[in-house]
Amino acid sequence: MSLAAAEVDRLQAFAALLLEANKHVNLTSARTLEAIWGHIEDSLSVAPYLAEGELIDVGSGGGFPAIPLAIVSGVRITLVEAIGKKAAFLRAALDELGLAGEVVVGRAESVGHAPAQRERYATATARAVASAPAVLEMTLPLLRVGGRAVLQRGRLDEAERRAVEAAAPMLGGAAPREQLLAGERRLLVVEKSAPTPVRFPRRVGVPERKPLCFT
Ligand code: SAM
Repeated sequence: MSLAAAEVDRLQAFAALLLEANKHVNLTSARTLEAIWGHIEDSLSVAPYLAEGELIDVGSGGGFPAIPLAIVSGVRITLVEAIGKKAAFLRAALDELGLAGEVVVGRAESVGHAPAQRERYATATARAVASAPAVLEMTLPLLRVGGRAVLQRGRLDEAERRAVEAAAPMLGGAAPREQLLAGERRLLVVEKSAPTPVRFPRRVGVPERKPLCFT
């Protein structure tokens, strides 16, 4: 995608913040600006799929993909991160970069039941967090009906693909669409077509331990 000079400057500022903070907190495996730029480009592959309205990112770690997406789109972001030190970095990065949004420290399974968060967002993202059906269970409850989950995935084996296809309607999602990117990278896009039943997400840890429909 073509970026304005001001967007490139802010993306570079984010990369520099992340590189510096990564010396003290394990935020990313990337150890050079070039490697971080690779993650930024990967994050921006989601940009064409953003729905109109607020975005929530689950398992944000060092801020991929939500912070690059906020820089290029101006969308307000909510970052959900379980680890306090990573959440502290994310808060500092939002402040430093002047981005609109908030950081929620906690597990997505709990956040998905918080009245202020549930069924609120237009777009939900997750990159490198858990298996596809587990991430679907963590993200769909956070979306309003008409919203969209955009999940960055690598290789997807048949069992995982079948699990996502079967789990989506249980969670209020339409049939998943797969958008192939370079190499083994892909986006799984799931539109939310109905409210998520209140029993989802299941208790903390259960979506990862027992992913829906995964046999
Ligand atoms: N999304 C970032 C990226 O692509 O670089 C971080 C990926 S990192 C491998 C996974 C992150 O998700 C970790 O920071 C971890 O603490 C967080 N995480 C894992 N399970 C979570 C959950 N259930 N709720 C909130 N955060 C979670």
